[in-house]
Amino acid sequence: MAAPFVDTAKITVRSGNGGNGVVSFHREKYVAAGGPDGGDGGRGGNVVVVADDHMSTLMDFRYKRKYVAENGMDGSGKRCTGKNGTDLVLKVPRGTVIRDAETQEIIQDISGDEPFILCKGGRGGWGNQHFATPTRQVPRFAKAGYPGETREVILELKLLADVGLVGFPNVGKSTLLSVVSRAQPKIANYHFTTLFPNLGVVYVEEGVSFVMADIPGIIEGAADGAGLGHDFLRHIDRCRLLIHVVDVSGSEGRDPVEDFEAINQELRQYSPELASRKMIVAANKVDIMQDPELLQRLREHVQAQGLEFFEISAAAHQGTRELVKRCAQELQDLPPVAVFEPTYVERPPEVDTSGEVSIEQFDDTWVVEAPWLQRLMANVNFSDYESRSWFDRQLRASGLFDKLEAMGIQDGDTVSLYDLEFEYQR
Ligand code: GDP
Ligand code: MG
Repeated sequence: MAAPFVDTAKITVRSGNGGNGVVSFHREKYVAAGGPDGGDGGRGGNVVVVADDHMSTLMDFRYKRKYVAENGMDGSGKRCTGKNGTDLVLKVPRGTVIRDAETQEIIQDISGDEPFILCKGGRGGWGNQHFATPTRQVPRFAKAGYPGETREVILELKLLADVGLVGFPNVGKSTLLSVVSRAQPKIANYHFTTLFPNLGVVYVEEGVSFVMADIPGIIEGAADGAGLGHDFLRHIDRCRLLIHVVDVSGSEGRDPVEDFEAINQELRQYSPELASRKMIVAANKVDIMQDPELLQRLREHVQAQGLEFFEISAAAHQGTRELVKRCAQELQDLPPVAVFEPTYVERPPEVDTSGEVSIEQFDDTWVVEAPWLQRLMANVNFSDYESRSWFDRQLRASGLFDKLEAMGIQDGDTVSLYDLEFEYQR
């Protein structure tokens, strides 16, 4: 059996760390005291996600679960900035929805063509060239780069199709798709044949086409988690119109009305919203129909529910043109394929500010470094007042100023925190 279709995956992604800035001084023959020329660290690589139309499953992510972008390089003398880390580009099938693994919130729906930055690379640390001031001509310090971000996310494939085929296995869904489009799904006369969803473009006439999806095996009890079906129902979440294919041939001793109701029951259990979506019913295999009574009963049953009813034989290409033309007409009046809006809310990070701090004094400058301080600062937008006040509160609460006081800091001294310097005021 072919490997099963994989439509969700949980992965960890990490952007690159920023490179470190360096301490260096210009050196040249006959020039006594050269100025500081230590370059900055390069930016860490981002993790970027793009849609790839050649992919139709998330299979690759089952075997590799951790994705790390490149770190930025350290700076060097002569004001040389370190090379930026290369972005890591994750290719996913179009229609993949990215969720936060912990909260399940939607971070992004990868349905369009815009690359999406899932994790931003850490900023590079500043070299000592930035720290020269009129009163500090020999800055003997530089700054470490910021760390990259790590995220745990769930990828979930939700196909982009206008029309979804639903129905029991073996009723002729794949056959119908192959007949009205150029898709070549596997067709076989046993249940559970379709393990991969297949998409096909249906050309109706000049300028009119739509995408049809053949959804793998919806079976009875699927919405309760029995068998294959449950996982696959998510693929029709976005479909604007459903074609419910029912086998009316009686060749398997099945009752079309019961089949029809059983599938609808599954849909309702999975999602009432989905169950209320526009539906057209296609009674298939009329070419080998043994008992016209079965067809007639289904027709009456369906029409009593106000649904449109088509008799077709997918295999004999009978009635299929009429069916797809009707679909195209219906689609004109239906809203476009849904794109899921992000629901993920960025929260102020909870940073433990009780960790180690290194404080070094260079003349009247106090250089403070701590991993927690970097994490804190990576989340501050220094051009935003709210964000700055939050940062100030966190700093005060951390006890950093008390430590500086104890070490003898004076009003007017400079406090140097990575790429931020400010004058100390008690
Ligand atoms: P699916 O499981 O719903 O995708 O069903 P398939 O398309 O794989 O078809 C199952 C079987 O029914 C295959 O042997 C098809 O050749 C056959 N079949 C499909 N449509 C028709 C039809 O209109 N008439 C007849 N006689 N056989 C059909
Ligand atoms: Mg099939």
